[in-house]
Amino acid sequence: MGTEHKVQKSIPEVLFVGADPGRREQFNTDCRSQITRLHFANSTDDASTLLIQKPIDLLVLDLASFSRTTDVRALGELINQRAGMETLALCPAVEAGWLLSLMPYGLKHYCLSPYLSAELTRRLEDMARTVDAYDMTQRLDDLGDIVDLNDSWLNAMGYSIDEVIGTRFADYVDKKSRAAVERALITTSSNPSIDTVVCQLRRKNGSILDVSLTGLATYNAHGEHLQTHCDLRGVNYFLADKLKSQSLLEVERELKVLLQVRSKLQQALMGIKDVNELSFLMCHELRKCPGIVGVAFLHKDANEVMQLDACMSRDDEQRSNFVQGCEQMLQSVQGNSQGVLTALTQGEFVIADSLAKIVDQNENRFFRAMGIRTIVGTPIVAESIMFDEDANTIGALCLMLDRRRNFPREWLEVMAELGTLASFGLKIIEWGHEKAGLMRQLRDMAMTDTLTGAANRRSANEFMEKEYARSQQENVALTLIMMDVDKFKTINDTYGHEQGDEVLKAITRLAKSQLRETDLLVRWGGEEFLVVAPNTNAEAGFALAEAIRREIEQTAIEGCNRVTVSMGVSQITVGERIEGALGRADTALYRAKESGRNRSILAERMGAN
Ligand code: GH3
Ligand code: MG
Ligand code: MG
Repeated sequence: MGTEHKVQKSIPEVLFVGADPGRREQFNTDCRSQITRLHFANSTDDASTLLIQKPIDLLVLDLASFSRTTDVRALGELINQRAGMETLALCPAVEAGWLLSLMPYGLKHYCLSPYLSAELTRRLEDMARTVDAYDMTQRLDDLGDIVDLNDSWLNAMGYSIDEVIGTRFADYVDKKSRAAVERALITTSSNPSIDTVVCQLRRKNGSILDVSLTGLATYNAHGEHLQTHCDLRGVNYFLADKLKSQSLLEVERELKVLLQVRSKLQQALMGIKDVNELSFLMCHELRKCPGIVGVAFLHKDANEVMQLDACMSRDDEQRSNFVQGCEQMLQSVQGNSQGVLTALTQGEFVIADSLAKIVDQNENRFFRAMGIRTIVGTPIVAESIMFDEDANTIGALCLMLDRRRNFPREWLEVMAELGTLASFGLKIIEWGHEKAGLMRQLRDMAMTDTLTGAANRRSANEFMEKEYARSQQENVALTLIMMDVDKFKTINDTYGHEQGDEVLKAITRLAKSQLRETDLLVRWGGEEFLVVAPNTNAEAGFALAEAIRREIEQTAIEGCNRVTVSMGVSQITVGERIEGALGRADTALYRAKESGRNRSILAERMGAN
């Protein structure tokens, strides 16, 4: 087990699509020994033409040479044109969104750049074998001996033709699947076709080759079995190696976890109230992926600054190191264009399947220290409702694993979906806030006077009734101050109505500056204001009125001469109704006007009148 099947044979015709001379040269250097003939095409059009003219065995797409906004379709059609034959994409680690765009066209194999030449070599070896393993055929006689087979069969199994002809096919089948194969090979003249059976063949060197076998038997007129023709197809060759099948199992387990997170998230989405809840749900669930070292959830706060919510899996002691490290990286994000986090925060899907792909030194050191080998990150993008606005990256979700991975299409798609769901989640949270803000605004609008921002009469009545009830119950003082602008008509007449409005706003500002938190300033009508002062007796109320009056008298209001106000003050007495106190304050105000304006008069001091 684990012995690698060495393939001497190279891939006959390979087409490299991409115009960058540097990367062409590198590919040529790295893979020369594994390729018989290497062709180059600058564009997808050239490639398409070449594919028709020449039998190409492997198509290599250098995605860094293309644009994700304009070229996806043409590249996808190129992959499609290969109709199931092998295509290998060389994809920049920080632009892994390419894979999501191209996999629906049938792309399966990719190498993340900056790739290691050893990695590419192994990849091509795999593909050389898959190319071989695809169309193996054989004919068996009625005893099950091999009478004929094709070159693919020999190449994939590592035998020469003389070694095989005349031997029993069943002997090449691994013990575990032998019974199933023998059963499948039993046919009758009325039912001559072989139902597809997946089985394992044993190569000459002892390693295993997974194939699916189908076929058709021929019978003569007397119903005698003559021969069986079999087609054998390499079933995902990558299963063959035990190590690889192990990792595939893990990928599948991860996929299951991802799917669970997705459905949990879908269910919870509408009820999620804040970002903490959202990130906790996602991180907490994603921790269950095998090999997870950490999960990071990034989101932009109200000030457009990326914030980190992170989760560690195995080791809670490590958690603070992890969070700290992530935060440091976040802070140094600007300016390092190669960084994984930079790419993420700029809305790129990222897959780094080895530390060698992490070019940024800070990041590399951190990931190494944390034992991280693979990073997969999806951006969280708010799709704009407006057509002329760009989609806006509002966060990112990032998984960090302690082992290397090759992610299949389903995996990457679910990961991207999680990004979309998180984006919905953030949107819903934002709406929640907006709605609350809007409700508050509406409430404020209904309660305040639009010109001055002081409370309006309606809210004043509510406030007074509440405070009145409290003052009666708890036996605390409550005082009202009526304020009226002196000779306001003259101000209007002299400086204009608009300037008059400005004066009202200034007076509101000045009066508020003298009030306590608990006091309420009300625009009672035209140029008349009311101050409701809870926990305030007549004397204190009078002092407050004087403070306001003086403040207004002493402050120059832009655009007009001195403005003054007159005040009438009264404390609500026990058992008295609000209207009564209001009336007495009004009377005091009238008295203040009468006696020369720019003064305060306390009703309680006026004596019976
Ligand atoms: P007094 O000292 O006796 O209070 O004299 P006054 O001129 O202030 O009294 P009067 O009640 O005669 O005039 C009030 C003026 O306030 C009349 C009205 O046009 C003006 N006014 C009421 N509301 C507004 C407003 O919202 N903006 C402006 N610019 N003027 C207003
Ligand atoms: Mg008035
Ligand atoms: Mg007035």
